[in-house]
Amino acid sequence: MNDKTKIPQYELLINGQWVPPESGKYSTILNPATEEVIAHVAAGSEKDVDIAARAARAALKVWNGISAAERGRILNRLADLLEKHQEELIALESLNAGKPISSVRRQDMPAAIDTLRYYAGWTDKIIGQVIPARTDALTYTVREPVGVVGAIVPWNFPIMIGIWKIAPALACGCTLIVKPAELTPMTAIRIGELALEAGVPPGVLNIVTGKGSVVGDAMVAHPQVDKITFTGSPKVGRGIMQGAAVNFKKLTLELGGKSANIIFDDADLDSAIRGSASGIFFNAGQVCSAGSRILVHKKIHDEVVDRLIERAQKIRIGDTASPDTIMGPLVSKNQLNTVMDYIDVGRKEGACVAYGGNRVGDRGFYVAPTIFTDVKHEMRISQEEIFGPVASVIPFEDEEDAIRIANGTAFSLAAGVWSADVTRIHKVAQELKAGTVWVNTYGYTDVRLPWGGTGESGFGREHGEAALENFTEPKTIWLSLLKR
Ligand code: NAD
Repeated sequence: MNDKTKIPQYELLINGQWVPPESGKYSTILNPATEEVIAHVAAGSEKDVDIAARAARAALKVWNGISAAERGRILNRLADLLEKHQEELIALESLNAGKPISSVRRQDMPAAIDTLRYYAGWTDKIIGQVIPARTDALTYTVREPVGVVGAIVPWNFPIMIGIWKIAPALACGCTLIVKPAELTPMTAIRIGELALEAGVPPGVLNIVTGKGSVVGDAMVAHPQVDKITFTGSPKVGRGIMQGAAVNFKKLTLELGGKSANIIFDDADLDSAIRGSASGIFFNAGQVCSAGSRILVHKKIHDEVVDRLIERAQKIRIGDTASPDTIMGPLVSKNQLNTVMDYIDVGRKEGACVAYGGNRVGDRGFYVAPTIFTDVKHEMRISQEEIFGPVASVIPFEDEEDAIRIANGTAFSLAAGVWSADVTRIHKVAQELKAGTVWVNTYGYTDVRLPWGGTGESGFGREHGEAALENFTEPKTIWLSLLKR
């Protein structure tokens, strides 16, 4: 598959076999940093999803016929293999998603391995309860896997978010069809290979690459798929919810964000500036929880803007394979156009580009870190998710004003608070409409802590014990103790 003299071609992984797509078609995968073609990947169709769904259904029995402890060992073996091949996976993720290699090494890869190991530890701890409801019956619950899971993964953290879905689903005894984002399927394909090597039985983990509107839609519509776990845009999430209503599929939706990062005038400004800059510029702003609205107390507004600009000037943009690069390109031409359009919208709405605002170079989809000032809360750049390295700095009067602005969008994924006042921190953290609130830091996630939002940010929680609820159903068993 990896003949270095020509561009590699990848097939679908269905029932433990690498098979060509029924359509015979392949899509072209680019390196976003150079726009060079790096692979041709199978364009799956409705028919391929149907075959994969049947394989996954049949494999449920096989997977659950293996003891929970042994399934845990298989997941740990997969983690071992990810560790063993991590340099290859890091390079592949960087190449395909346009991520600086240093950030994949520091963040995405360790998080993926940690997630696998964490859920490997859960396999034999997913238990029911004996609930003493009556004297004439033994009443208890067991937790059963929901069945076949359709996992739809975005392009911003392909390996990490892919494993966020694969690991808990497998731990709960589910089987999967994974649909990586059309632009970034490379590491998911490799994980499929490694899963077979780790001993995941054929049909348990199927990888069907292709378009969201084809493969994703087919997964949502398929009667043999019991649950969809989706991370992506609110627009697609809404369509999935409508599609899932047809056969009442279980759903978890992790959608967008427009997170507020609030800097009070008593904050330690060195760390607030550092954390706020990385909060929006990390992964070129293509982060659902990006701190894209930096709310600053009016007394320190000008100082914060000056220091954010200083910080933005120092961000090394460039070759994603170089360990010194801090910021890579956006993932695609489309994403570049969307972000540049938003920068135009901001200018037209009367906001001021205090830094950046331009494309960088003419090869690769790079955009300069961009800082808008004179942003009004009602402007589109302050209300809509841009998903690029674009910060809106918005001044506020006092605590109440900060909370009003922070809570004033349709999203509620995350927020940040920078202050030295413990009472204020707790009060504001409680008032903020957000699934996660970071205090005097920004952007960290850990598989042990619930992750998700409400409103346009979706519903349900990934990570931790919460994810086990997503992939299991309780069953009540009522055994009569009455003598016959
Ligand atoms: P997207 O919604 O365009 O695509 C996400 C996935 O859905 C891809 O795999 C895509 O192929 C698939 N898809 C597209 N159309 C589909 C359809 N009709 N039916 C089924 N599947 C379909 O989103 P994106 O542009 O890849 O990712 C960016 C978005 O994801 C942003 O809005 C961001 O905030 C969100 N996101 C959220 C989180 C979170 O944890 N809440 C994490 C990362 C990204």
